[in-house]
Amino acid sequence: MMLRWLVALLLAASMPLAQAEPALRVLTTFSILQDFTMQIGGERVAVSTLVGPDEDAHAFDPRASDIRRLKNTDVVILNGLGFDPWIARMVAAARYRGAVVSASRDITPLPASHADDEHPTAGHHDGHEHHHDADVDPHAWLDVKNAMAYVRTITAALAAADPAGAAHYQRNALAYLARLDALDAKLKSTLAALPAHQRTVVTPHNAFGYFARAYGLRFLAPAGLSNEATPSAGAVAALIAQLRQLKVERVFIETIADDRLIQRIREETGARIGGALHADALSTRGDANSYTALMEHNLQAIAGAAP
Ligand code: ZN
Repeated sequence: MMLRWLVALLLAASMPLAQAEPALRVLTTFSILQDFTMQIGGERVAVSTLVGPDEDAHAFDPRASDIRRLKNTDVVILNGLGFDPWIARMVAAARYRGAVVSASRDITPLPASHADDEHPTAGHHDGHEHHHDADVDPHAWLDVKNAMAYVRTITAALAAADPAGAAHYQRNALAYLARLDALDAKLKSTLAALPAHQRTVVTPHNAFGYFARAYGLRFLAPAGLSNEATPSAGAVAALIAQLRQLKVERVFIETIADDRLIQRIREETGARIGGALHADALSTRGDANSYTALMEHNLQAIAGAAP
């Protein structure tokens, strides 16, 4: 009996805590930024995201209900680099007056054409350029060192909006940055040991420019930087010829991209599907439900240890 009362008392005491308002309400443009912000903010911050796991930010078209979500928001965190240009229109439409932070602020952007100069990408000539800042590659988070810069920028933004929580954010960020640093070292050492024929990776959309530069790989993609780009028949034929010449053994699919071209390349080159890579979104299917899990998944897929 005493024990039951004690449990009831403890439950009652913990309730106001559970119902307490978060110190900050943050809205991010896509799922990877949501994860970064949750790692830093912990229980002090309520973080929601406009483009969720398994969804494509390139194709996002905000509705009125999305714009209304800005009303209860203290800080908006976006990627920038042309990845999520729709957030600027939403901020204007909602007359939002809170902080707006570009997480990629301190990184050095790669030019959009970086992937490969001889690479027959036709993605930017099909009229979809308006979805992109055509000059830079937006997928900067796939280099872990860039992700660490994102984390520092988000930490500073949370501390500025909630100075009473600054020490809490700093502490969480330091622990998370240490994990990211270890992840970066693991990616570098594992991928440096790969044989040459595994260093060319074919994916549906050209999201891996930063990843390729950071970890010494070469990525080829039949589509351009955005999932909406459709390459010409000639571009696809040239890519297939190149893959035959390079004796590429494996091609990869992506969870949110159109894989029809990859299937055709697989048939025409005899390459096999090496697994699914994640680039622009976390996944609810367990193997990429956080940024670190996403990078570990891609590492295992490319290094050949995964299904
Ligand atoms: Zn993308």
